[in-house]
Amino acid sequence: MSLDDELDRARGLDTAELADAVESLGFECTRCGACCTKEVDEEGETEPHTATVFPDEIRTLQRADGADREWRDVARPMPYGLSAGDDGPEGETFEWALQTDACGDCAFYEEEDGLGACTVHESRPLICETYPFSVALDGTAEPAGDPVDAEGLVRAHECEGLGREISREDAEALAAALKERAIRELEEAIALRDAYEPVDADDGEVVVHDSEGAKRADGTPIERAE
Ligand code: SF4
Repeated sequence: MSLDDELDRARGLDTAELADAVESLGFECTRCGACCTKEVDEEGETEPHTATVFPDEIRTLQRADGADREWRDVARPMPYGLSAGDDGPEGETFEWALQTDACGDCAFYEEEDGLGACTVHESRPLICETYPFSVALDGTAEPAGDPVDAEGLVRAHECEGLGREISREDAEALAAALKERAIRELEEAIALRDAYEPVDADDGEVVVHDSEGAKRADGTPIERAE
């Protein structure tokens, strides 16, 4: 199915059905911080946190709570597809990821007395608002996982809060955010498909192609070669 057809499907999603699916799966955040921090595999190897963030969400986070953050304070080029150059990563990538701190955790994550907290909770991106769920449509890739509700409508990513009772009100709020995110992901993917043009990048430079065009790692636009 094409991205455009998937977008039509996303726009036609019934939020009551999505809420039913969320309610059947159950969820309550335990504030364990697992979805905001680096990944640690069975061998103890760590990977920095990666969560997709859209360009307008980056701008919202730059200004969240009256702050005046640089683009780089909020986002970094998604590392997938980049190669290791002499002075760090280089090449082309097609998404932005939330910026990480020196530990590899999300730059907005804080922990106190073993409980995790998001310091930009009210402005957090849709991917965070909807974790651990996503709508099972093609072109909406994160978080990956098999459809697990009875209707196959909603996917759930590994999370210790799954299976806990959720109120109808919270399930409906999550359902509305899930639909919004599915639509936004597909709109971004279509805009990226339509906007993509190769650019003449300097050696050792990272280029991020997003729905608005090509940008440097600091978020500044790159002029296209004529
Ligand atoms: S923005 Fe907030 S909710 Fe999202 S990963 Fe960072 S700390 Fe977690």
